Amino acid sequence: MSDLITIDGSQGEGGGQMVRSSLALAVVTGKSVRIENIRAGRSKPGLGRQHLTSVRAAAEICNGEVTGDELGSTVIEFHPAAVQPGHYQFSIGSAGSAMLVLQTVLPPLLTAEQPSTLILEGGTHNQWAPPFDFLQQAYLPLVNRLGPNVGIRLERFGFYPAGGGRVVVDVQPSPRLAGFDLLDAGKVKRRQVSALVANLSAAIAEREVKQAQRKLNWRPDEMLVREVKANGPGNVVFAEIECEHVTEVFTAFGRQGVSAEKVADEVVRDVRKWLKRGVPVGEYLADQILLPLGLSAAQSTDTPVQRGGSFLTGNLTQHSLTHIDILQRFLDIGIDVSETEAGVLVAVQPN
Ligand code: AMP
Repeated sequence: MSDLITIDGSQGEGGGQMVRSSLALAVVTGKSVRIENIRAGRSKPGLGRQHLTSVRAAAEICNGEVTGDELGSTVIEFHPAAVQPGHYQFSIGSAGSAMLVLQTVLPPLLTAEQPSTLILEGGTHNQWAPPFDFLQQAYLPLVNRLGPNVGIRLERFGFYPAGGGRVVVDVQPSPRLAGFDLLDAGKVKRRQVSALVANLSAAIAEREVKQAQRKLNWRPDEMLVREVKANGPGNVVFAEIECEHVTEVFTAFGRQGVSAEKVADEVVRDVRKWLKRGVPVGEYLADQILLPLGLSAAQSTDTPVQRGGSFLTGNLTQHSLTHIDILQRFLDIGIDVSETEAGVLVAVQPN
């Protein structure tokens, strides 16, 4: 088979992101991919439910062919066909992150010829995954800056381990993706710490905001306690900082054996780190925005839009470094990373 790209899933970051991003890029480019040693270094290697849902979702949105799509599978081969925008529903069937499934199917739908609607069921607020609020406030506004209009709404919260969350996504595609440069966050316009509890005492969230307010010294009206409905218990704290050019969202999850104050401290630590570093793009946003920016750099265009772009971030995580590798395997682009006084400058350009 021509154009078969082989990805060694044990390389670099070596987790689910390699699988999801390779699938997304395979659908976008129409190139077949074989992924080996999937999550080889993880405690439970191979495809978990969330990864499996992502594999099948990628195949469904393009009538692709896939082999090895089983729980625990460590090798898959995927042959995509043309992207089919439309109405889709993807249910993980566990509390696995539905937000990560979205990140697999969204990129190819951004430039499709027709709009799409997606219903995603599973976890909406999972540790080690982008929470709904991060996607809505931080990630999608940057995706929309490229030209598409992606709207997302939360219909039900889904926390680990009960799951049962539901999110609806409307994708208005754009045939051309414009790039952007994000070198400065601009002035802070709004700040908000929100502590959410589901099926747990509101006192937990109250202690979290009290601690965050004491440490950050933000105004009382910048603190919010919310009791929400969900199938099982859940507790999450967000700090959202909306600036002129970017919004960042920092998250910590309440969990057994960790005090409410300690959970709040984790968010405070991330906020302080970001503010001190003074770069617009935090470490999670950096790894996630690379792919859409790469797509904008890769398209051939006869119109005068900016292709690709650049951003300043703190330091590049293994996730970001792995993404940089994978993107250059699939797309005819170059990604330069340079240390500057202001931070790490990442430039994503057509070759
Ligand atoms: P993986 O560990 O390979 O399954 O990938 C996890 C993905 O979730 C990466 O793209 C991370 O950037 C993202 N992620 C993890 N934690 C957060 C968080 N607190 N906020 C935003 N994104 C996150």
